[in-house]
Formats: sequence, structure tokens, C-alpha cells
Amino acid sequence: MRLLVIEDEDKMRSVLRRGLEAAGYVVDEAEDGQAGLARGLEGGHDAIVLDILLPDIDGFEVCRRLRRAEVWAPVLMLTALDAVNDRIAGLDAGADDYLVKPFALDELLSRLRALIRRGRPPRPSVLTCGPLRLDPATRAVMWDGETIELSRREFALLEFFLHRRNEVVQRTTILRHVWGERAHEQSNIVDAFVKNLRHKLDRHFDYPLIETVRGVGYLLRCPGEE
Ligand code: CA
Repeated sequence: MRLLVIEDEDKMRSVLRRGLEAAGYVVDEAEDGQAGLARGLEGGHDAIVLDILLPDIDGFEVCRRLRRAEVWAPVLMLTALDAVNDRIAGLDAGADDYLVKPFALDELLSRLRALIRRGRPPRPSVLTCGPLRLDPATRAVMWDGETIELSRREFALLEFFLHRRNEVVQRTTILRHVWGERAHEQSNIVDAFVKNLRHKLDRHFDYPLIETVRGVGYLLRCPGEE
């Protein structure tokens, strides 16, 4: 069994490598997101251990890009942040399991065994809202069969709204999930992107798809699904 470990902290990476090799795995290592992504895209791994906080592109983005490229090796995410939001964001990005640092090596090994036994995760299901379809696996957005071109961030925003459809979501929650660690920089960025999304989507619908909830955030309404 061959594993890929993507972790920027030298000490943690070598502890992981030694522990995993002792358990009989062949281990490839990467010390940042870009290098990890490149190794992951080569394929051939039975599972990937992926740290969330990396110096360049974060673990969520690495995972998203792997899935977009149809790399379906099970992903176990590691993080120091014991937050429900990170867990949700990790799973939304296509991770299969989640482990909070510090953890015992035995716990990591048992989670990995379970993931590898379970095998390749299923292709994520297509998200819909009326005639709107978003396919996380192919990154395609269609309205009634017609392709809608979205930027990477607009896609991530729409995907997030679809996961939370018919639910009021706060701007801060959106920032954290869609923009991640750099979110604190500009909080009005959400409004700007929602405006762009509306411009691209609302002309297709006879009702506004994304509603503003004054003082709180936004609501993507899918009639008939409440
Ligand atoms: Ca790290």
C-alpha cells in the first residue's frame, strides 16, 4: 500500500513517515500544497494524508483540485483546528475523514485502514436547484442544459450555497468556507461575488435565486424543496 503524506512541518512529517513505514506502508512525502498536488496528480496512492494548514495552497484546495482531476484516493485531513466548520469544509472539499492534532499514531493507522478498506469514494453527487445543475466532479454548471461559465471562486460560492440551500447563511460563514484563511482581509468580497453570481444566474430564472437577508447574509432558495 502506497500513501502520500502532505505536511509542511518537518517534525510531524518525519514522525508520520516513520510510523507509517513501520506499519508497512510505502510513503511519498510533500512539504507544501503545490508539491503535494503534483505528487497526488501522478496517482497511484491508496490513500492521502493531507494537512489543512500549508504555506502555499491549503489542504482544502489541494483536495478540491485532486477531485476535480478525478483523483479519488481516500483523503484523511489533519488539522490543529478543532472546529466544526473546518470539518464541514474538509468534507465539502472531498475529504473522506478528518483527524484533529494532536492525535495518537494508532488512531491515524486505524482510520487509514478503514479508509483503504472502504476503497475509492463515490463520485460526488450532482447538486441541483430547479433547472440549475452543478457537478462537483466535472466542475460544470448548467441551466436547463446550457453551460454557465463561472470563475473558480464563483463556482465554490455557488457550490457552498447549494449545500446550504433554503438556509440563511451568514457572510462570515461564507467567507470562512469559500475564501478560507485569507478571509479576514475583505469582508465585503462576499457581496461583490454574490453580485457577480446573480448577474450570471438570475437572468435564467423568473425569481431571484439568491436572496439578501438584511443584516445577516444570504439565502439560496430552491422552491419545492423546503
Ligand atoms: Ca501545517
